[in-house]
Amino acid sequence: MRSFDAIVIGAGLVGSAIAYGLANAGLKPAVIDEGDVAFRASRGNFGLVWVQSKGLGAPHYQRWSRLSADEWPALAAELGERTGIDVGLHQPGGLQLCLGAEEFEKRADMMQQMQREAGNFGFEYRMIERAELADMLPGLGPAVSGASWTPYDGHASPLSLLHALHRALRDKGGTYLPNRTVIRATSAPRDFRIEAGGDTLSAPKIVLAAGLGNAELAPLFGLSAPVRPQRGQILVTERAGAVWPLPLGSLRQTDEGSIMLGSSEEDVGFDTSQRPEIMRNIARRAVLSFPYIAQLQIVRAWAALRVMPPDGKPIYDESEQYPGAFTANCHSGVTLAGAHARAFAPMVATGELDPMMAPFSAKRFDGSPDVPAAA
Ligand SMILES: Cc1cc2nc3c(=O)[nH]c(=O)nc-3n(C[C@H](O)[C@H](O)[C@H](O)COP(=O)(O)OP(=O)(O)OC[C@H]3O[C@@H](n4cnc5c(N)ncnc54)[C@H](O)[C@@H]3O)c2cc1C
Repeated sequence: MRSFDAIVIGAGLVGSAIAYGLANAGLKPAVIDEGDVAFRASRGNFGLVWVQSKGLGAPHYQRWSRLSADEWPALAAELGERTGIDVGLHQPGGLQLCLGAEEFEKRADMMQQMQREAGNFGFEYRMIERAELADMLPGLGPAVSGASWTPYDGHASPLSLLHALHRALRDKGGTYLPNRTVIRATSAPRDFRIEAGGDTLSAPKIVLAAGLGNAELAPLFGLSAPVRPQRGQILVTERAGAVWPLPLGSLRQTDEGSIMLGSSEEDVGFDTSQRPEIMRNIARRAVLSFPYIAQLQIVRAWAALRVMPPDGKPIYDESEQYPGAFTANCHSGVTLAGAHARAFAPMVATGELDPMMAPFSAKRFDGSPDVPAAA
């Protein structure tokens, strides 16, 4: 039996950020990961640190996303210093382009609601009309009616982030155990035993961060994580000269020069195949936004599965039945990496979630016919 201060199940972006945060708080965590056979949103995502549309009707989620965006520069800097890996963070703000007058009006209403719901916390935004936008973004297509802008948004390299978190975790004394699937667990308050890959591991704390795997694991720990897959498809162009000074919601240029076009939202279960009609739609919208994109070759395309809670908002919980067991589930693991490493992990390290996390509990689904209750 190997003993640790904490076990984190799942070494995607969520588990890795939390495990790194635990190691930073002085704990010796072990991270167990299923490996290449798994559905891994962390390797197939779009790389946005995106705040402007997060938390409509849920100001706690808006604040959590903003907190994360605020923590991102410190996370990127410390990962860079510790590992030498540049995670490619740029946070110049972000624009969400609108096609046609109706989209622009809808977006304006949404941004107004976000600001209203932010209350004293504040929410800075602007709706930018087409004429001004065309000066900012040469080559803008005639179908673009304008854009919303907030100063909070940015983008990063998700693969570099994942790599840096893994390396920093090990440098801080954490243990990474890949190619092991957790199938059995024994739970008692602050005493957890896990069987995975022939090893038995024990710890007084456990964090379930297994992405879509959380749905099955959670009941073993008196928790509920009713997440489902949502497919997203992405297209990537050949490298182009520098085009945009900031990310555009569903379009972003990587540091290497490729343009990423994304991404769809499809409820198709655990199906990761690509669909030409969806890819066509993604490309069509990109070309309407910037006709010159039609001249670029598409060099890569893929589909991946988001980890989607029933209402689209993250789920964070500590088990009432087995204190010491926590779960973290979200569909914005890049955006929320700052919060996971620098706010959520310290809460787990001290042993309880801050009251600000209460609205994120899966208890909000109690009584819902489609969501199984926690054990
Ligand atoms: C197309 C697409 C675009 C996206 N774009 C963005 C974006 O721009 N910005 C953003 O913030 N987010 C984005 N996301 C979401 C983001 O990628 C996810 O929120 C994040 O990657 C989820 O990370 P995770 O660690 O929870 O899950 P995963 O990456 O799925 O990792 C879970 C890990 O748990 C392991 N595991 C599962 N079950 C077990 C088990 N029983 N035992 C051991 N290990 C187990 C798996 O091996 C896996 O490695 C996007 C997602 C997709 C699909």
